[in-house]
Amino acid sequence: MRHIAIVGSGPAGYYTAEAALKQWSEDVRVDIFDTLPVPFGLIRTGVAPDHQSIKGVSRRYETTALSENVRFVGNVTIGKDIAIAELQDLYDAVVLATGAPNDKKMGLPGEELPNVFGSASFVGWYNGHPHFAKLDPALSHDTAVIIGNGNVALDVARILAKSQEEFEGSDIVAHALSALDASQIRRIVILGRRGPHQIAMTPKELGELGKLARACPHVDAGDLPDEAEDAALDPGQRKSVGHLRTFAAAEPCADHDIAIEFDFFASPKAILGTERAEEVEVERTRLEDGKAVGTGETYRIPAGLVVACIGYQTSKIPDVPYDDKAGHFANQEGRIAPGLYCVGWARRGPTGTIGTNRPDGFAIVEKVAEDIGEGSGKAGRPGFDALADSRGVDYVKFTDWQKINEAEIANAREGSPREKFVAVEHMIDVVSKD
Ligand code: NAP
Repeated sequence: MRHIAIVGSGPAGYYTAEAALKQWSEDVRVDIFDTLPVPFGLIRTGVAPDHQSIKGVSRRYETTALSENVRFVGNVTIGKDIAIAELQDLYDAVVLATGAPNDKKMGLPGEELPNVFGSASFVGWYNGHPHFAKLDPALSHDTAVIIGNGNVALDVARILAKSQEEFEGSDIVAHALSALDASQIRRIVILGRRGPHQIAMTPKELGELGKLARACPHVDAGDLPDEAEDAALDPGQRKSVGHLRTFAAAEPCADHDIAIEFDFFASPKAILGTERAEEVEVERTRLEDGKAVGTGETYRIPAGLVVACIGYQTSKIPDVPYDDKAGHFANQEGRIAPGLYCVGWARRGPTGTIGTNRPDGFAIVEKVAEDIGEGSGKAGRPGFDALADSRGVDYVKFTDWQKINEAEIANAREGSPREKFVAVEHMIDVVSKD
């Protein structure tokens, strides 16, 4: 029998569990730990609330979760409630699938001003992540600046731009929906330090911006390279750039309430303000060997809200080697140390789609299989239960999550799949009801 602990119940965690079941069938026991009492990580708190079809992938994880050989152990923080070394003593393999939940810092003056946020906290706010539910961003100014040219920047722009009706069918949390209803933001500027050919935005997500009810995207045609140069792009990128060309060719946004402006070759230099963000100072750039180089020309954009969508970092865990430069655990193709592994964003950084984590999960299980053979008689589940008991760690099981899930579905406003609990204590209240 092999005993596997997976830390993190997002896509990377559940795909790893699925792979372990395929590999060993009845001869494995998998425990999936999570800090939160609810599973599915980024599917619940990262994927945009109006992208319900993407969130549907959690049904696949549910199939894995319902296997008798897999357990969910929620509301337990590894590195705090239980040390990593303790987990290693109990399980043949510990696989860290903790994602990259922290914002990469811009390193700019003014970054700490009120109403300047990283996307982890801003997205966590509108998605009801308990750590960010109280963020309370002020949406009382005319202009928001979004920094970065990736899909998260698009998510944030779209959520800020949508009308209340366009949130129908989404599971955006009530506090965000009502704040957005009162929002005064009428101009959203998306800053890209490089050009249209260097965007990290996928075609479907970019196309969505062109279909919003009260907002219209605008690209300065002068920023676009000669159309013939698009031929050298890969097909997906060509399609994305095609959307930018459509936005550039469209009539100015006269009959829309909100303008979404793409500002390319624009690198933020500082956030200015006294009590909160008031302006972003930007330097014009040009491309040299694919890199953004400052031209010395600067200008300011008035902005009451700044959201930096420039990527994420993995949280450190005491005693686990970490690569500070890369922002994830130090590893060799997923191996950190004997018996200790990482997978997904915790292994390779925040890249790729949700599906990318599946081959990643299968690959790490192959390595674990090479290393642990038939297992070495470790205590596994009963050992963990004894330790948790002795320490008063009361964990949440998958059946408990099912109760939370049912209560969230029952609490849903009309047209929404659920109203999420945004406080851990409210989740625990549901679990302890009977
Ligand atoms: P990302 O795709 O890595 O994009 C980050 C952007 O930030 C890039 O445009 C980058 O520009 C820019 N940037 C980085 N550091 C900067 C700095 N100091 N100043 C200015 N700009 C800076 O990251 P992401 O948008 O956070 O997305 C993370 C992953 O999740 C991606 O794989 C993404 O596709 C995925 N995702 C997918 C969806 C979806 O499929 N619907 C939704 C959300 C996220 P450079 O290129 O110049 O470095």
